[in-house]
Amino acid sequence: MSREIALELCDIRREFTLGRGLFRPLATLKAVDGISLRLHRGETLGLVGESGCGKSTLAKLLLGLLAPTSGDILVGGEHLRGVDRKRMARHIQPIFQDPYSSLNPRKTVREIVALPLKVHGLGTPAEQQRRVAEMLDVVGLPRRAADSHPGQLSGGQRQRVAIARALVMRPDVLICDEPTSALDVSVQAQILNLLLELKREFGLTYLLISHNLAVVEHLADRVAVMYLGKIVEERERAALFAQPAHPYTRALLDAVLTPDPALGLPALGLGGSFPNPISPPSGCAFHPRCPRCFGPCAERYPERETIPGGSKRCHLPEPA
Ligand code: SF4
Repeated sequence: MSREIALELCDIRREFTLGRGLFRPLATLKAVDGISLRLHRGETLGLVGESGCGKSTLAKLLLGLLAPTSGDILVGGEHLRGVDRKRMARHIQPIFQDPYSSLNPRKTVREIVALPLKVHGLGTPAEQQRRVAEMLDVVGLPRRAADSHPGQLSGGQRQRVAIARALVMRPDVLICDEPTSALDVSVQAQILNLLLELKREFGLTYLLISHNLAVVEHLADRVAVMYLGKIVEERERAALFAQPAHPYTRALLDAVLTPDPALGLPALGLGGSFPNPISPPSGCAFHPRCPRCFGPCAERYPERETIPGGSKRCHLPEPA
């Protein structure tokens, strides 16, 4: 049985032109470099990679905060090319990392959750208030919280408000950008479990962006690994965690995980530092850091190859 596609990215690219000084030529930074991905309805796709790999740019493209240089984004089969941010928000909603800064401190929870309905002119004021009450139930907040301001709530409660706001318009896809990393460790599991329950109950579709592979392993059905603007491995979760096919994925999995979000992705134990994205290495861009680098790696860029449970871009004939 074929599954319905909620979100499809077709060869999405986003380049930035940078000035390099008075007498130096302009440079092009390929932040997102030809990404094609599909998310099926009810699925969670984890997107992982080091800072600067292009994950945040990809999220901004999906939220309409940036326009792609080329390529297409389709939601439920509908092209979003040229569609304004407001209309994109009907389809794709974010849950950001920091519920402290993503909620307006001067508004009540009722106003915050109802705002998307008001902006899009959905329902009468009474219907909007019913929907707000319903959403508070769904995310496990007491209805009396509706009259509180964000400053009166705990971090976990604020993230529940952010989730209620994201869900209130029944979007097709939720972009969860490090949804628990600003929270106390004790609260993180509660929010992750809430996201899982909501997915099961409402068939939600998540793109989960995280540096924390433990979070990705807990929530994701499939995982895409990003390096210098490209997807280098995309697999079903179990296959990727059991036997990564790309040496970069192997390095991510071997890194010691830390529960402290401020530390980001731990040191990967790779030779060389993260390359300058303005002048990426030749061939496979990972080759200067790759412990398995061999003959063709510095010369030829690896084509996408289908493997059990997904695909990889690596010349190695065997798992990493
Ligand atoms: Fe390493 Fe070569 Fe594979 Fe790139 S193509 S990840 S350099 S083995």
